[in-house]
Amino acid sequence: MKILVLNCGSSSLKYQVIDMDTRNPIAKGLIERIGLQGSVFAHCAGSLKKEVFKTEIENHTKAIELVLQQLVNPECGTLKDLNEIYAIGHRVVHGGEKFAKSVIINDSVMKALDECIELAPLHNPPNIAGIKACQKIMPGIPQVAVFDTAFHQTMRPYSYIYGLPYEYYEKYGIRKYGFHGTSHKYVSQRASVLLKKPLGELKLISCHLGNGASIAAIRGGKSIETSMGFTPLDGLLMGTRSGALDPAIVTYIMRKENLNAEQMNDFLNTKCGALGVSGISSDFRDIEVSASHGNIRAQLALDIFEHDVKQYIGAYAAVMGGADALIFTAGVGENSTSMRAAICKNLSYLGIHLDMEKNMVRGEEVDVSKTNSRCRVLVIPTNEELMIALDTLELTR
Ligand code: ADP
Repeated sequence: MKILVLNCGSSSLKYQVIDMDTRNPIAKGLIERIGLQGSVFAHCAGSLKKEVFKTEIENHTKAIELVLQQLVNPECGTLKDLNEIYAIGHRVVHGGEKFAKSVIINDSVMKALDECIELAPLHNPPNIAGIKACQKIMPGIPQVAVFDTAFHQTMRPYSYIYGLPYEYYEKYGIRKYGFHGTSHKYVSQRASVLLKKPLGELKLISCHLGNGASIAAIRGGKSIETSMGFTPLDGLLMGTRSGALDPAIVTYIMRKENLNAEQMNDFLNTKCGALGVSGISSDFRDIEVSASHGNIRAQLALDIFEHDVKQYIGAYAAVMGGADALIFTAGVGENSTSMRAAICKNLSYLGIHLDMEKNMVRGEEVDVSKTNSRCRVLVIPTNEELMIALDTLELTR
């Protein structure tokens, strides 16, 4: 049984075809620069090496048509016929309060998705465009929406309501939503398998540390707190995003630099974080190299990141009354041995004892804590596509 997973960004499309019997992708790829000059289409199928095409792709419908053509291309040998695709799972960034779970897409879901555009004006429109394109090209195939926000809908009001007049929550939907939910859900399920304990009995702190980064406190399989907020700008210092700030800084910079609301939003999302502090790059690999050569601002960016993560770990252990495991995932979490070591240093009061030798792994699912570590430390490569495919299969079977 094969599931097509689509992740439509504003000018990009990521896809995978997953064979649900083996749970492995049999084809995957990425189209970039959709609607811009010189679109690039990279496709990988089975043992086939990556093929890259340069072409013009004006919109998501055209992009999906090209992907489907490639999937039935006999040279790639992925599918004989498009009817082999059992269902399609779409990543949708924002489900607001309407969606606490993945859903089969129908007319009323489409209407609700339109209503969520206001909350994620950059992300939801391309997600919706991808769904509409599939409805047009493959009308008979069931489609499922899987939301980044859904997993965090279990938070209690004292976690998600901000210190603003309550009417702003009612009128504008201003509250903490949280993101990366598909990743936090996936790694928490894997943690339960690795620890051989039911999710319902576990207190987990899940650290999704990538270009975008967030931490979640997961008790009994439910998200009870997370670091991203109304938007993905909140919480940790990230590659290019500021993370949490004194809110008064926003208007102060707007006045000093003569920026309007749009420009300020763009500034906070693209020019800040590790890039802004280091002045070098948003990429943690570049920053680690610079820091190792003695660049003080690169080291400062790393120190802030580590310090931020540590503070959330302490906070989330406090709200859950301890933790059974600390999970590291996403680019930095899965690969940066030095960042994991720095974060876990001096956390013995929480029962966290990292095994320096075991910690030398990158991108593997492994327990990297010492045998006496009361709180286990797990490296778990995330797999949002598989999680989307599993939800899609469960809802459509
Ligand atoms: P996103 O999906 O948010 O774009 P990723 O999860 O792919 O992000 O993570 C990207 C980040 O992971 C980059 O900053 C990159 O430098 C970092 N990263 C990847 N590999 C390593 C590594 N070996 N050491 C340190 N950082 C790494």
